[in-house]
Amino acid sequence: MRYYSTRSKSKPVSFASAALSGLAPDGGLYVPESIPQYPVSVKNSLSAMDLPDIAFETIRPFVEGEIPAPVLESMVHEAFSFAAPVVPVGDRLVLELFHGPTAAFKDFGARFMARAFSYLRRGEDKPLHILVATSGDTGGAVADGFFKVPGIRVTILYPYGRVSSLQERQIAGLGANIRAIAVEGSFDDCQRLVKAAFRDKSLMKRESLSSANSINISRLIPQILYYAAAAGKAFSGKTDPDAEATPRKAGFPVSHLTSTACPVTFCVPSGNFGNLTAGIYAKEMGAPIRRFIAATNINKTIPDYLSSGYYEAQPSKATISNAMDVGNPSNFERLQAQFSFEKLRNLLEGKSVSDTETKRSIASVYESYGYFLDPHTAVGWSASDSFRNEQPLIVLATAHPAKFAPLVEPLTGVIPVPASIQKSQSRVPDAQRICAELPALLEVL
Ligand SMILES: *Cc1c(COP(=O)(O)O)cnc(C)c1O
Repeated sequence: MRYYSTRSKSKPVSFASAALSGLAPDGGLYVPESIPQYPVSVKNSLSAMDLPDIAFETIRPFVEGEIPAPVLESMVHEAFSFAAPVVPVGDRLVLELFHGPTAAFKDFGARFMARAFSYLRRGEDKPLHILVATSGDTGGAVADGFFKVPGIRVTILYPYGRVSSLQERQIAGLGANIRAIAVEGSFDDCQRLVKAAFRDKSLMKRESLSSANSINISRLIPQILYYAAAAGKAFSGKTDPDAEATPRKAGFPVSHLTSTACPVTFCVPSGNFGNLTAGIYAKEMGAPIRRFIAATNINKTIPDYLSSGYYEAQPSKATISNAMDVGNPSNFERLQAQFSFEKLRNLLEGKSVSDTETKRSIASVYESYGYFLDPHTAVGWSASDSFRNEQPLIVLATAHPAKFAPLVEPLTGVIPVPASIQKSQSRVPDAQRICAELPALLEVL
């Protein structure tokens, strides 16, 4: 598969080059030159395949000729060693994407990207140095994904005092090849410093620098697999009502939905729209999907675009679903380069949700079904309210509610803490603190 920039089709590159460079030289994002199809045999057995097998079939055509099948096979078994159950909650299904090590869906992308980078850099004597800025969730997933991956060093910049204590432990508690830098400033300062470091000629000469931010195509591709897996299950009436470690209060009756043999509608809590872009790829590959609800908080640039036809980037507004506080979603450029407005309008329904509605959903879903929603998933739940006649209807759960306990617990009861979060909580954060100036960063690098 070759990849071209969203800004020009003239110089397609390999998967390795698209993944390792992140952004195209013209500033565009890489997109695959075509979207492959699942073989019929795979399409017909999605509901019977396990997650690593679906991952293998999903990723293979995107890396053909660059990552040999046996290597890919072991990569996907290592990367996707946790479950993604489809759990019935009331009249809907919830796809739980928070059973990975950092309890958020970003584990899927980060864990594959880390292994892909390590393989693509094999035989290089200089380690690859990944420099990334985070406002919270991405940092944890990237740190965990690359932890102890051979040939790779990671430096993560985060705003000092502005991430939660759990997030800080996930970013700065690992050690080994992961280094954390606490910047005295905001997330924007962290991003500015990373960008400035990439422009520093002497640093670039000395180090093999790369970034691992959310626009990287190697993070997007593995996200396709859970849509295919969940759609396959729901289509054939198979769900996971007894999934282990589901955040549900004991004693509530669990509904058992039966087969509908209808394609699935997914409701996707969205910020930068990477997750939703992967969902569209899954549909294009042939997974049994009807369409998508693009759920946002009040940062509703995309819902506005879908209703008016005009795209207008906005400054981001702070909400309680802060991983979705994006006023100019970077993956919009990908969607626009690959799909016409008419096609997007057929594929997507936009819906924006206020903080008040988000909290109301957290409280009411707990009261009715004993199920805990995190604030991001609650945006999705709320947005899906008006689409309950489109069954099967699957809401993506993008983070574990225990990650946001101070916000959720006053609306519910005490949330059971999963082992992954307990493990991070027991770590001691260790970061270097710097002022928000390039010379300070260069000094510690
Ligand atoms: C990153 C994130 C999102 C938004 O995902 P996009 O791919 O940026 O749309 C939603 N929920 C959680 C918990 C996240 O961490």
